[in-house]
Amino acid sequence: MRIDLHTHSRCSDGTDSPGVLVDHAAAAGIDVLALTDHDTFAGWDEARAEAERRRIGLVVGAEVSCRLAATSVHMLAYLPDPGEPELQAMLERVREGRNARVPLILERLRAVGVVLDVADVAAQSREATSLGRPHVADALVAAGHVANRREAFDRWLSEGKPAYITRYAPEPAEVVTLIIAAGGAPVLAHPRGRASRKVLSDDVIASLADAGLAGVEVDHHDHDDAVRRALRGLAGDLDLVVTGSSDHHGTGKDGHELGSCTTSEGEFLRLLDRARVNAERSGRVVPQPYLP
Ligand code: AMP
Ligand code: FE
Ligand code: FE
Ligand code: ZN
Repeated sequence: MRIDLHTHSRCSDGTDSPGVLVDHAAAAGIDVLALTDHDTFAGWDEARAEAERRRIGLVVGAEVSCRLAATSVHMLAYLPDPGEPELQAMLERVREGRNARVPLILERLRAVGVVLDVADVAAQSREATSLGRPHVADALVAAGHVANRREAFDRWLSEGKPAYITRYAPEPAEVVTLIIAAGGAPVLAHPRGRASRKVLSDDVIASLADAGLAGVEVDHHDHDDAVRRALRGLAGDLDLVVTGSSDHHGTGKDGHELGSCTTSEGEFLRLLDRARVNAERSGRVVPQPYLP
């Protein structure tokens, strides 16, 4: 079984529509795919329809933006009730914060002589539910200022660079609680990636586990072998599910090909079990995984 539990479509900052993403996953020999767009559930229906057509497993979810000690942290939410009002309101607030900062980013770019319009960014966002830095990067590529997203981030958009503007994001512990109340399973995404490794110590992860964290993404492009070993040990100590995933963004991110990191079948079943328990306890009506 090849199980890839973290991918993005054009509903956030991936470059494929949800249907095409599922299609690519089927072609790549993936057995179970999770769609986890940033802060939105918008791609679920299209992905599900294509998964049924191609008879490939699908788990719906999202990757929720969090912030801890001024540092970006990402939380995967698997199979939550998309209609749960508090989770919905929080995601709405995150998306609004992302949209609201675009003019400020463009102001900063103008100050360094790079002139773009909000419409130029919107033109790159297709069906995305909010305008993020990747769409600003795509507009910079389209206007010929840089060759690709990475260069746009390295020169202007990353934290500490001239056009970086922060935005609203809730704390991870709060997000864990919201996901559980919505009947879903929260999994910490790439905790020892470039930014979040500074704030996600073993102790912090242990406290999230106490709050109900279900798992931790261990096998990820941003983690070297030593980091993966350490996280696997921690997950064992804290009884957390161990996941692995590509974090595929279509052509938007190099080195994140579908299936480039995967989750074992045993850990996947444990994750589904955590999700089922949370769904039962919450009393919410949650989406079911599609496993043909
Ligand atoms: P935002 O949510 O608008 O702050 O944008 C964050 C997104 O930008 C992340 O989810 C990544 O997919 C993408 N991103 C962050 N850093 C880079 C980078 N160096 N190169 C390409 N994409 C990046
Ligand atoms: Fe992204
Ligand atoms: Fe992420
Ligand atoms: Zn991601």
